[in-house]
Amino acid sequence: MIDFRSDTVTRPTAEMREAMVSAEVGDDVYGDDPTVNSLQAFAADRLGFESALFTASGTQANLLAIMSHCGRGDEYLCGQSAHNYRYEGGGAAVLGSVQPQPIENEPDGSISLKKARAAIKADDIHFASTRLLSLENTIGGKVLSLDYQRQARAFCDDHNLLLHLDGARLFNAAVKSNCDVTEITQHYDSVSVCLSKGLGAPVGSLLLGSKAFIERATRLRKMVGGGMRQAGILAAAARIALEKGPQRLFEDHENAEYLSAGLAGIPQLEITPASTQTNIVYARCRFDRAAQLRDYLVEQNILITAGNPIRFVTHLDVNRQDVDRLLDAIRRFYLS
Ligand SMILES: *Cc1c(COP(=O)(O)O)cnc(C)c1O
Repeated sequence: MIDFRSDTVTRPTAEMREAMVSAEVGDDVYGDDPTVNSLQAFAADRLGFESALFTASGTQANLLAIMSHCGRGDEYLCGQSAHNYRYEGGGAAVLGSVQPQPIENEPDGSISLKKARAAIKADDIHFASTRLLSLENTIGGKVLSLDYQRQARAFCDDHNLLLHLDGARLFNAAVKSNCDVTEITQHYDSVSVCLSKGLGAPVGSLLLGSKAFIERATRLRKMVGGGMRQAGILAAAARIALEKGPQRLFEDHENAEYLSAGLAGIPQLEITPASTQTNIVYARCRFDRAAQLRDYLVEQNILITAGNPIRFVTHLDVNRQDVDRLLDAIRRFYLS
């Protein structure tokens, strides 16, 4: 199967599996797992924070971030299409009693700081207290500019807000922005990063922030059942993902660009190739045959996510030849 549904489908490499077999482990709830501790120290240093926490998923990292920054009756500002608003089961509200205040994202994925300003609640007994702005980079495959992120930091300083980044695909953003990740992370109080997407780890994310923030997050992680015991087995693979994953992401971006150009040549699909910035490609089906296309592709051993738009994601386990096979199969579908 060639799987374009998501970059979460990547399988651990042989090197990762070997590292998992020989990982030194301990009980991480006691803070005794040397492989987890070493991953967290390495990650904190690499991303420019005091501390880091290894979590079961990106969803868990975002939940811990929002709950560590905000209390019951507080609110966080986020994009209407933010993952931590739309796709995380409303966790911050359900488990943290933290109200989201979504704001329509701009076409480039940013949140207008003017709209954010208007959404901040006055200090009044009627209102929730606005504590946090949460951004996402990349968002729908689009990259927030360094300049925008600098402005967002200044905005939060001016209005006494904390700033969180859902950086599930932070390294894709850094590759596209042609900068070190720290040029992005320096603007944030906290950042979450997925190791289990394009970086290739089988499981796990990281949450980064100050020492006090990570201490609060560690308590909350235990509370939501995320205290994993001999987690070094997972951290061993995660370490390789974090160290070696970033350097090959440009290939995923090149393959996505190549795929976009190919799809643009198929008249039944609607796509703006310039909107493909990293490893995610969206194409609209003119005659709404996305489900039929998906079923046809399954017969050719190719998997896609059939919404409208259709989403194609490039990653570690698809190469240029696989993209060509996908394009050929789509052309055949429209001929049949
Ligand atoms: C995938 C993703 C997450 C959540 O990660 P999981 O590990 O799947 O829980 C959070 N934010 C964004 C932007 C994502 O793409």
